[in-house]
Amino acid sequence: MKIVMLGAPGAGKGTQAKKIAEKYGIPHISTGDIFRANIKGGTELGKKAKAYMDEGKLVPDDVTIGMLLDRISEADCAGGYVLDGFPRTIPQAESLTEALRKRGEKLDYAIDVNVPDASIVTRMAGRRACLACGATYHIVYNAPKTEGVCDSCGEKLVLRDDDKPETVQKRLTVYHDQTQPLFQYYEQAGILKTVDGTQDLNQVFSDIVAILGA
Ligand code: ADP
Ligand code: AMP
Repeated sequence: MKIVMLGAPGAGKGTQAKKIAEKYGIPHISTGDIFRANIKGGTELGKKAKAYMDEGKLVPDDVTIGMLLDRISEADCAGGYVLDGFPRTIPQAESLTEALRKRGEKLDYAIDVNVPDASIVTRMAGRRACLACGATYHIVYNAPKTEGVCDSCGEKLVLRDDDKPETVQKRLTVYHDQTQPLFQYYEQAGILKTVDGTQDLNQVFSDIVAILGA
């Protein structure tokens, strides 16, 4: 099963993608996590990406597309995957479609986790991230067992630099300008499914399972 998660920054794509990955036994691939791991590791890719990320901008397509296509060529992706944060532009979506077409494959679902902008800033202000393992929490809606500590790996949780309100606003503008055209793209492909992302996160997941099949 090959799935892409769509939705505004902070809509809950990562939260749901992790649950999908676990239930269906497929890898969860987040381009944001890959960039953050590179920043942490001090790689050239990380240095390049950081400048864009800190400003709430998208990392250029020429960097992002190759990185993602390499990742989905790895052996663990043979049985499918759930992509979180990719594609974010029409050229990214077209490159993915084309790369899959060459292998005689296609995406099965594009799932839109729909949350209005008004709820996004609150969500992001409360998000806490583990930069070691990629786990995500919310101080109110999905709190870790011990405040400030990752349940999965015990590392310290942080407020991401790009989750500060002024950067979130910029990211939302970028989202509406560059990412929203993907809805029409996947609608035309006949694979777009929308779920109400303002519900409790377990209810959002039930709605997704109803689409994907138990
Ligand atoms: P995205 O991957 O779309 O940027 P996340 O999955 O990281 O978003 O979610 C953003 C924040 O909102 C996190 O702090 C997460 O714990 C919280 N969250 C996710 N889904 C819900 C939900 N249905 N209700 C309330 N908070 C949620
Ligand atoms: P995320 O973790 O998905 O919220 O992504 C964090 C940041 O990483 C984004 O604001 C972008 O700067 C960058 N990024 C992640 N995925 C992409 C992508 N597909 N295209 C361009 N930039 C991306």
